[in-house]
Amino acid sequence: GWRSRAAFKLSEIDDKFGLIKKGSRVIDLGAAPGGWVQVCLDRGAQEVAGVDLLMIEPIPGAFLLQADFTHPGVDQQMIDALGGRPDLVLSDMAHNTIGHRKTDHLKIIALIEIAADFAIRTLKPGGSFVTKNFQGGDAGGVLTRLREEFETVKYFKPESSRKDSAEVFLVALNKLDKSKG
Ligand code: SAM
Repeated sequence: GWRSRAAFKLSEIDDKFGLIKKGSRVIDLGAAPGGWVQVCLDRGAQEVAGVDLLMIEPIPGAFLLQADFTHPGVDQQMIDALGGRPDLVLSDMAHNTIGHRKTDHLKIIALIEIAADFAIRTLKPGGSFVTKNFQGGDAGGVLTRLREEFETVKYFKPESSRKDSAEVFLVALNKLDKSKG
């Protein structure tokens, strides 16, 4: 079985957008307890590297690191573990909310920005990026940047995401090859 309810959300996202391909190399940010890693491997990903603040029980075929992704050098550790650039970067990172709207909001945006920046820097041309986001959250700056770097950027709310939650996913498809001018 899947380790998390979140596994159903990624399954729906992938059914809709076809992100995980046979042989895909995937980096999963905020991966504990490992549901998304399981889905990626189940759908034919060749290499999956996951990171989380929490320890993740081993999953055969996956590299799993316990670390804070916002700390310097952890991004490079993930690329090294994967053995090269990813085809797909996923982020389901979310911190424990403290109940102070403005502070929580700033933290959410910071995580989205860090994940998006990593995806833009490391993805192969043609690669894709998915991040958790929250409706009403002003991810405006990130959205603009993603629209510059990817062919298509869409919002998607999976059926399996609680209706009463503000959670929504940002899906950026087909990273443009800027080297071709
Ligand atoms: N997608 C996962 C799955 O299917 O099992 C569920 C992820 S859960 C919703 C969010 C995770 O983000 C938490 O486990 C949390 O520890 C992690 N997280 C939050 N901030 C992080 C950070 N700075 N670095 C690494 N992981 C982080």
